[in-house]
Amino acid sequence: MLNIVMVGPPGAGKGTQAKMLADRHGYLHLSPGDLLRQAVKDGTALGLEAKDYMDSGRLVPDDLIIELISDRMRKAGAVPGMILDGFPRTLRQAEALDEMLRELGQRLDVVVEVDLPEEEAVLRLTGRRVCRQCGANYHLLFKPPQRPDVCDACGGPLYQRSDDSEETARARLQVYGKETEPLISYYSAKGLTRDLDGRGSVQEVAERLERLLGLR
Ligand code: AMP
Repeated sequence: MLNIVMVGPPGAGKGTQAKMLADRHGYLHLSPGDLLRQAVKDGTALGLEAKDYMDSGRLVPDDLIIELISDRMRKAGAVPGMILDGFPRTLRQAEALDEMLRELGQRLDVVVEVDLPEEEAVLRLTGRRVCRQCGANYHLLFKPPQRPDVCDACGGPLYQRSDDSEETARARLQVYGKETEPLISYYSAKGLTRDLDGRGSVQEVAERLERLLGLR
């Protein structure tokens, strides 16, 4: 069992890399951002509560997130590993994660810190487009769809996430520096952190990540 946490600023590529790694190795991929966007789309009570926080780039309250993730984790069944992308984001969430894993008789193996210069993160976020139907990701400059605003994979319509405007992207980066970066010292003190250079193509970063984890 390999339990991995991905930490890094929004736009660093955590989600893209986490999904690829999970697909390749059969790991469970847990992303509160994805779960919350789905809840907003479905109009559930959780979605209604989370929406304003997300649209303004603020963090959703810890209790909601902790409940969401612990519920998914308990229902996970037998998997060879778990990759947490976008959780934890606060010290309280990190402590809650320790507790969840302890209850399951597991532990955290590695915290991958993905680094990316701020201006590159803003460029990646503001150019990102997502398929409303299948969730595939595109980028206006780095990975444009063949037809404007249409998904290559399923033909669905592409949209810009409401929190990917430049103003909200910058707010999210500030929240990262203030609330999430302190987690890195929490995990470094436990000897769990490994640095991943987030620059370059998706493929380059994916190879770097697998080498770092000893998977290739
Ligand atoms: P992401 O898809 O990871 O960029 O997350 C999108 C938004 O969902 C964030 O800006 C927050 O509003 C919310 N969110 C995601 N993960 C968390 C978390 N661990 N704690 C609090 N809010 C979160």
